[in-house]
Amino acid sequence: SSVVGIDVGNASSKIGVARARGVDVIANEVSNRATPSLVSFGQKARALGEAAATAQTSNFKNTIGSLKRLVGRTFQDPEVQKVEKNFINAELVDAKGEVGVKVRLAGEEQTFSATQLLAMYLVKLRDTTSKELGGAGVSDVVLSTPLWFTDAQRRAYLDAAEIAGLNPLRLLNDTTATALGYGITKTDLPEADNPRNVVFCDIGHSSYQVAVVSFSKGQLTVLGTAADRNFGGRDFDRALLQHFAEEFKGKYKIDVLSSPKATFRLAAGCERLKKVLSANALAPLNVENLMEDIDASSQLKREEFEQLISPLLERINVPLEAALAQSGLSKDQIHSIEMVGGSSRVPALKERISTFFGKPLSFTSNQDEAVARGCTLACAVLSPVFKVREFSIHDATPYSIKVTWDKAADVPDEDTELVVFQPNNPIPSTKILTFYRKENFDLEAHYAAPAQIPEGINPWIGKFSIKGVTPNAEGDHSIVKVKARLNLHGVLNFESAYTVEEVEKEEEVPVAADPAAMDTDGDKDAAAPKTEVRKVKKLQRKADLSIVSGFIGGKDASVVSEMKEVEGQLYSNDKLVIDTEDRKNALEEMIYDQRSKLDDRYKLFVTAEEKEKYLAALNAQEEWLYSDEGEDATKSAYVERIDSLQKIGGPIQFREKEFQERPRAASALREAI
Ligand code: ATP
Ligand code: MG
Repeated sequence: SSVVGIDVGNASSKIGVARARGVDVIANEVSNRATPSLVSFGQKARALGEAAATAQTSNFKNTIGSLKRLVGRTFQDPEVQKVEKNFINAELVDAKGEVGVKVRLAGEEQTFSATQLLAMYLVKLRDTTSKELGGAGVSDVVLSTPLWFTDAQRRAYLDAAEIAGLNPLRLLNDTTATALGYGITKTDLPEADNPRNVVFCDIGHSSYQVAVVSFSKGQLTVLGTAADRNFGGRDFDRALLQHFAEEFKGKYKIDVLSSPKATFRLAAGCERLKKVLSANALAPLNVENLMEDIDASSQLKREEFEQLISPLLERINVPLEAALAQSGLSKDQIHSIEMVGGSSRVPALKERISTFFGKPLSFTSNQDEAVARGCTLACAVLSPVFKVREFSIHDATPYSIKVTWDKAADVPDEDTELVVFQPNNPIPSTKILTFYRKENFDLEAHYAAPAQIPEGINPWIGKFSIKGVTPNAEGDHSIVKVKARLNLHGVLNFESAYTVEEVEKEEEVPVAADPAAMDTDGDKDAAAPKTEVRKVKKLQRKADLSIVSGFIGGKDASVVSEMKEVEGQLYSNDKLVIDTEDRKNALEEMIYDQRSKLDDRYKLFVTAEEKEKYLAALNAQEEWLYSDEGEDATKSAYVERIDSLQKIGGPIQFREKEFQERPRAASALREAI
């Protein structure tokens, strides 16, 4: 099996594959190393990735991005309504509890949930990867997620991956992936008692993430994280868009924002201008045929740009301060600041972050590909396929999680809640909770500080019913242990529950060593440790209990498998549409090719009668091909017509081929003699 890591970006995704000599970030079907994160629904089929970006300009209403920002969220979610809507032209709707999109596909109105949209896109990335690997199956994968993703968002990612036929070995936080790529290649990391502390800043298309990570030989530990969920390149583009739309109202008397097409063209121009401003003090803006046949042009100084994005720039220190505070480190304990993400090229951001730390920044990681590389390395660490250097990842969860329960009537001084995971708790980790119960009971998990999680996401994570609880042999409370686990994906589960009982056991226990008894050279082996047999009380696992879990995030297995089926149908329909188009083109090509050869290469090999018959057949097929029927026929109709022409043309081709090969055969014979 293959070893694959995918940075699922909001603007574009990057795919890494592990090879014997290292990690390669691969190119897609148009040789780009980043694939647009877009899904488009067409008159016949879907277009995904690059094809969706191409289709977008003429099909706004049915093209959608922001895939990662929508999964696991509801239609009513204020961040969806207030923020994401600004970047989406398609119609958002409620899709059975999750936000979704209403589109026209093959002439029919259809609704797809955000999870399905992400799955469609992941299928495309899977196919791109498989093609690169010579058709090999792609299943094991590590996918990146923003570090600020909640349980529901992570579960939605896992569902999407499953629908796409992928097996995520781990969901890995963007900044942790970058940190892994940084650490695993370093041969000069210090010992654990004096670790190297590095800050990673990832400023992408839609969000800005900061992690403080300590490195020592063979391991990394995330000490603190913070993020501004709505801070990235798209916000800069939007500020520019609004500026120029305003300018053109006066200058050209056009209202760009009233037209999705013009808005799109201007936004693309703004993004280009923004990139030029990263390296130049002044940049031109030229958009041909913006609207109403107007070729719009303007320019902008870098200072003016910085003025336009000043409300954003003012927020730049907030995550830096928060992550640093959580890490417990001071600025002078920071060894270096690694910058990644496309927007980390903006000079105003670089200056401010550098000023904050009072240090120059480092750009040693590949700004665009660090996350994909890190995910691929993480996949290699988890997969048996490659031997990689031992490197432990101690990641952390950003949010505290508490568990609540109803007080048992007969356990008077019991609390009813407990914060089980504090912010910055390691991922993965397991906590065991103890309860005294005579009957079944329920636990509920919530984010303990709802204000910290993305607005609009339900802080309630799930409900867990512990079943099979009975009084103990004396009719008293059973001691119930419940295992809570934050797994490798950063997802919470109550993995197991069981009762324990106290038993008295005879056990050999060490007796406090008499220092005088030790050999003078301190060799402990020489003097056998003294022990004695004592009766000790021990807790012993007695009976397993069952847990029925219900989550706010993720979908029921039956829903996921239904969606998988739908995806399978859409996939084969897309394939059929492509194959049909391919056979149609083959028929057209055949008609032109054979007709021209009749007057040329086949001249000596056809009778007048044959030629007339073949020509008539070719002309008839051409006429059909350009008729309404031939324009839009089934794959088998094209194949049948290709076959029927081949029946007539075949013997002619054979004669010609034989003649061409005869001199060659003769000369081969001569040489052999
Ligand atoms: P996210 O991490 O938010 O999900 P992403 O991973 O897709 O998104 P990146 O690929 O890191 O995002 O960055 C893309 C953003 O970087 C775009 O907004 C793009 O315009 C911006 N960008 C790329 N190059 C430059 C540049 N030279 N100057 C300014 N911005 C740039
Ligand atoms: Mg990114």
